[in-house]
Amino acid sequence: PRMAENKEKLREDLRKENKSCFILGASGETGKELLKELVKNRIFSKVTIVGRRKLTFDDEAYKDVVQEVVDFDRLDEYSSAFQGHDVGFCCLGTTKAKSGEAGFIRVDHDYVLKSAQLAKAGGCTHFNLQSSKGADKSSSFLYLRVKGEVEAEIEHLDFDRYTIFRPAFLMCDRAENRLGERIFQTVLTPITYLFPTVLSVPVTTVVKAMVNNAALRNDKKVEILENKAIHALGRA
Ligand code: NDP
Repeated sequence: PRMAENKEKLREDLRKENKSCFILGASGETGKELLKELVKNRIFSKVTIVGRRKLTFDDEAYKDVVQEVVDFDRLDEYSSAFQGHDVGFCCLGTTKAKSGEAGFIRVDHDYVLKSAQLAKAGGCTHFNLQSSKGADKSSSFLYLRVKGEVEAEIEHLDFDRYTIFRPAFLMCDRAENRLGERIFQTVLTPITYLFPTVLSVPVTTVVKAMVNNAALRNDKKVEILENKAIHALGRA
């Protein structure tokens, strides 16, 4: 109960600061869960979602969400979309299977880095990047290397605060049909039951970790949250 009380106090403090935030990838599995959480908790006085298409929400609770539709290939022309947000959350990404190797690099590296640069120029002080378990700029696996590179390049932008989330396999009811992931999720179920923090993490836990962490006062400039830490923070 003390922890819950403390969490509520931290959230209340953040609310009083009237901060604004933006989400990249709000139509994705993590992003939409994060948006739901932020709409519910109202810890930010303004929430903007930045994406390539306009989303529709039936729920009244979303009526104050601001939408910025941008062309990610010409982001410089949309710098105003990144203006004036205190906190940024990036949950953008595609896969090699879906977009090919060049497409994957374009989204997971180029779009992510450019967005971070514009956010920094626009006054963002806390940038949150959803990366991946195993991200490593010297990896021989393209996926892990790109994740590691973009992590490092964003670090060079020198945000006042920069949080990197490195979740393992995301457990969710994915809208998109990815057969491989569905099989993997089924195989994982018993392992997850026995060792819940090793190979996977529910998307709901990731977004709770993001929200709890944003409300924490922390003087660490760069934080890397590995899968286990995400579980702990998401539970707190
Ligand atoms: P999703 O694939 O569910 O969503 C991706 C988001 O990125 C969507 O909002 C999508 O928009 C946007 N996006 C994709 N391609 C483009 C594009 N070409 N132009 C503009 N926007 C685009 O993401 P997840 O929540 O599954 O994953 C989020 C991040 O976490 C990714 O970086 C992923 O690599 C990483 N990750 C994933 C794991 C997993 O198990 N799946 C494990 C660890 C990390 P739109 O709806 O318009 O397509």
